Amino acid sequence: METVTTLKREIIQIGRRMYERGYVASNDGNISVRLPNGNVLITPSGVSKGFLNPEEMVLVDAQGKVLSHKSTPSSELEMHLKIYENRPCVVSVCHAHPIYATAFAAAGKELDTCLLSETIFTLGKVPLVAYGTPGTKDIYRDLLRWLPDYDAFLLANHGVVTVGKSLLKAYHKLETVEHSAHITYLTEQLGGGKLLSVRDVRKLEKLKQEADISTKTDCLTSDKSTICDLKTVPEMSELLVDEIVKRIIKRIRLG
Ligand SMILES: [Zn+2]
Repeated sequence: METVTTLKREIIQIGRRMYERGYVASNDGNISVRLPNGNVLITPSGVSKGFLNPEEMVLVDAQGKVLSHKSTPSSELEMHLKIYENRPCVVSVCHAHPIYATAFAAAGKELDTCLLSETIFTLGKVPLVAYGTPGTKDIYRDLLRWLPDYDAFLLANHGVVTVGKSLLKAYHKLETVEHSAHITYLTEQLGGGKLLSVRDVRKLEKLKQEADISTKTDCLTSDKSTICDLKTVPEMSELLVDEIVKRIIKRIRLG
């Protein structure tokens, strides 16, 4: 089992990665880890995540009572605690403002297209959570609605929240969200992506279910999550009609 000292070191490493990758500017973002006894270790308020010190890390109990008094906890402490309260298997929460994913959040667009196999397999759809003022209950009000079904969330006009069964798993989801948003954005600049077929999506869905069962990495509390929006994928019958029309046109031209 990891000690508090080890976890503080891991939070510092992840904070540095987030800062160096441009997922946060200035003192933005926050990271927390839940300990086996229910207490939570969270990053301090008003400090750059690229330059954290172990002494600054704040220990609180499940109700938010500060147990170490050297620093003030992140202003989003309540959001982290509500996530832990509502998803008992979650061990870590990451919040940041990565550029491309935040651009999607600011444009009011979910990341839900059936475009990238790896994203569909490892993460699934990233829903858009209604805007709420940072540092207040409003920020997580709508997030709780999506929480049982998803591991990553776009906060409208704000940024991204990811959760996981470990700090590294929560952070990797943040990387996947930003990577996927970046590629989706570039694909749109190139005239739009070629979406996966229903059949291919179904295959990924099956593989994902099998992997979740065998590795037990999944800690979603409902089975309503979707891996991507199948409505955006042309149905096979539509593809067939398109192909037939193309062949008829070709024959008419040849004739
Ligand atoms: Zn934020």
